[in-house]
Amino acid sequence: MSGWLAIAGLGPGRTDLVTPEVTHALEQATDIVGYIPYVARIAPRDGLRLHPSDNRVELDRARHALGMAAEGRRVVVVSSGDPGVFAMASAVFEAVEAGPADWRGLDIRILPGITAMLAAAARAGAPLGHDFCAINLSDNLKPWALIEKRLRLAAEADFAMAFYNPRSASRPEGFARALTLLQEICADARPMLFARAVSTPEESLRIVPLPEARAEMADMRTVVILGSSRTRVIEGAGQPWLYTPRSA
Ligand code: SAH
Repeated sequence: MSGWLAIAGLGPGRTDLVTPEVTHALEQATDIVGYIPYVARIAPRDGLRLHPSDNRVELDRARHALGMAAEGRRVVVVSSGDPGVFAMASAVFEAVEAGPADWRGLDIRILPGITAMLAAAARAGAPLGHDFCAINLSDNLKPWALIEKRLRLAAEADFAMAFYNPRSASRPEGFARALTLLQEICADARPMLFARAVSTPEESLRIVPLPEARAEMADMRTVVILGSSRTRVIEGAGQPWLYTPRSA
């Protein structure tokens, strides 16, 4: 039996947002590896081994998955959203680069998924319809000074911005600092979207002008989208639409 490793995105939550390609890989798999809540989304079946692990052990998890694939198992590493966006695909390549030579010969595939910012943008309208960037606000893996620099330069360049990992219990201050900085630099009332648990039963969407945005509006299940200076809100049937025009 020849093993393989797929690093798959499960999308933002709803089952019908998982791609057929990912569903097929899960059906073929012998082993599922990933952060506990993501592995919990996989239906158990005979012959399938589940290997849930804690969030802070990405490289160990990647090495474990690569080792099993090298032994001939069919392994799927699961991430939420897309596996290449602040998720496991990079950790796997980091482990491959530093690992034994035979890992370079493994059959490795990255199976894309719908990332949180795109699911949130689609629910709210089209806030990312012009140039935008995505910034991870967690300073677990990079210094806070670098986050501030990127926020400043992105605001100066008038990008719309999507913020992942905005606020956690272990980092309560960072998002408040980011908001203060953005309110100072942008100095206008452009809209900010707080999209929580998109495509799940707990979904909530809230749009506020930037000066009224407060850190408590976000948690770790929220992706935040700040418009560019051109982003606007218009009335729609049952909900407002948030969109950024395609011309600068
Ligand atoms: N690989 C994932 C991102 C992992 S980082 C992706 O592509 O979506 C985890 C962050 O993603 C969370 O803190 C939150 O900011 C965002 N996120 C993930 N799923 C979400 C959802 N259903 N609704 C809103 N934000 C979500």
